[in-house]
Amino acid sequence: MSDPVSSRYDLHAHSTASDGRLDPGDLVRRAACNRVEYLALTDHDTVGGIRAARDAARRSGIRLVAGVEISVTWNKKCFHILGLGIDPANETLLSGLAGLQRIRRERARQISDKLEKHGIHGALTAARKMAGAGMITRTHFARFLVAEGHATSVSEVFDRYLVRGKPGHVATRWAGLEEALSWIRAAGGLAVLAHPLRYRLTASWLRRFLTAFQSAGGTGIEIVCGNSTPQQIATCADYARRYRLSGSVGSDFHDPDFPWIDLGRLPPLPAGVTPVWEHLETS
Ligand code: AMP
Ligand code: MN
Ligand code: MN
Ligand code: MN
Repeated sequence: MSDPVSSRYDLHAHSTASDGRLDPGDLVRRAACNRVEYLALTDHDTVGGIRAARDAARRSGIRLVAGVEISVTWNKKCFHILGLGIDPANETLLSGLAGLQRIRRERARQISDKLEKHGIHGALTAARKMAGAGMITRTHFARFLVAEGHATSVSEVFDRYLVRGKPGHVATRWAGLEEALSWIRAAGGLAVLAHPLRYRLTASWLRRFLTAFQSAGGTGIEIVCGNSTPQQIATCADYARRYRLSGSVGSDFHDPDFPWIDLGRLPPLPAGVTPVWEHLETS
């Protein structure tokens, strides 16, 4: 392993408002310890953690960028779009997210029914309990399946149960691309494509998506993610230049027990791309 590199910006992180392990206050304090100066809280389809994160940020002396990670379906494929610098009280955004929250609750029931047919009982109750007041996600089901001994790791659960073609998979129609971008715009934020290389798309599908994203008003793409290789960073920087998108840096931190991804432990943006924070009001 190379030495950890530290970044003043970490614009992608999760709390217990969705599938992160730390509550918003602890997340902010960990970021401050790691010398992050600008942290974006980007929970899945909710802004429920922003207020607590903002209070903690004020006390820790770091800047909280209000954010959200919106689930989008485009051409039957799922993408994650970050809204950064949003107003978490904006009604258009909140009513859009309320629709996704309903979809999440319904999908959770369907996942549980499918697992039930596969002989795995009690998944909905357990996943709901783990999610608490936060969004229910596949990560919660995965943690339950690990705890029950059906797999040894969360990622093994995804591969064996939760992805397309597996017994607990449920096809889901999330927000439309233009729709999600319109909510982000209404809330005064910037749209950034999260982890561009994690969708298992062919290069031609990714190019098509980037064309649509750019023309729908997308601002940036995440160039540096929590576990990016130098080659992946170079590839994403090329996309940013080619599609005239700004570059973002975000760990996608979820869990302090996975120390290979930590807040602010990120290499710098390559030269020749505009940092997305140049467009953010960070004062
Ligand atoms: P959901 O939005 O409910 O479908 O859950 C998506 C979340 O599951 C992602 O944000 C990741 O945190 C997690 N996830 C997806 N794929 C994997 C994987 N292969 N291994 C571990 N976690 C995963
Ligand atoms: Mn997640
Ligand atoms: Mn994501
Ligand atoms: Mn994320």
